[in-house]
Amino acid sequence: MTAGRHLPHCVAIREVGPRDGFQNEPETIATADKVALIDRLARTGVKRIEVTSFVRADVIPQLADGREVLTAIDVPHDVSRSVLVPNARGLEDALELLGRFDEVGVFLSASEQHNRRNVNRTVDESLRELSAVIARAVDAGLRVEAIISTSFGCPYEGVVERARVLAIARRLADSGAAEIAFADTTGMANPVQVRDHFEEAAATLGADVQLTAHFHNTRGQGLANVLAALEGGCASFESSVGELGGCPVPAGATGNIASEDLVSMLHEMGIETGIDLAALLDAATALRTVLGRPLGSHTLVAGPIDWKAGR
Ligand code: ZN
Repeated sequence: MTAGRHLPHCVAIREVGPRDGFQNEPETIATADKVALIDRLARTGVKRIEVTSFVRADVIPQLADGREVLTAIDVPHDVSRSVLVPNARGLEDALELLGRFDEVGVFLSASEQHNRRNVNRTVDESLRELSAVIARAVDAGLRVEAIISTSFGCPYEGVVERARVLAIARRLADSGAAEIAFADTTGMANPVQVRDHFEEAAATLGADVQLTAHFHNTRGQGLANVLAALEGGCASFESSVGELGGCPVPAGATGNIASEDLVSMLHEMGIETGIDLAALLDAATALRTVLGRPLGSHTLVAGPIDWKAGR
């Protein structure tokens, strides 16, 4: 099988389960289990892992051991480790472990109300603060990814205009972010919207900025949105082992698209990821054992497709 004429032949995937996943799961996972899972994921062929976040422990107790995790993990040197920081304070905390990670993620929401509820700032206040955070991180030799939440719709405000999202992206790129991730935080995106979004984003932001899609499977449209993003020119995705994570709003919502489902689909389409699906499924199985409950990933339940069956 070969990739379609208009689709990329290979894509980059960042595994965000250890941060986006663990942060939003009800359980607090033991540090040793987190470290073992990250080390395992780092040996599946994935080249980017979001390891943890430097947030206040009273706000996100699930990631209070970020420092210990970052210190203890042992990942191959060609795997990029990223940490999420909410603000200048978070970056300074992270920089105490400079050398233990390669990339910094910063975030804000495209919609005012979501940003206010999430980080208690106006979007403009966030942009001004993040501009300084990005500059400081770049100065420290780090690559910066800026994540724009509610890029495709806001649970509080509804429609978020694309021009607004792309203007925010422009400012973040101008501040030094090498990568812009558009996040469908509560699963409101549809494939037609996504294809148009990435076509326009690429035309507006130019080839120097890497564009990344971060989809949640809240309404089961995550993989359809991946195909649409590919058609729109996007070749970088974020996903979560076991479909962990997501967003606590709306309550009970499912998580990010599952890495296993994403990798399975892409490989079936003839698109390379560099990831060994069997090894990834082993990591997901180990995670399921740690959590002691079923996970949302379809491929974990069904297993990989066996085209030689019956021969
Ligand atoms: Zn997410």
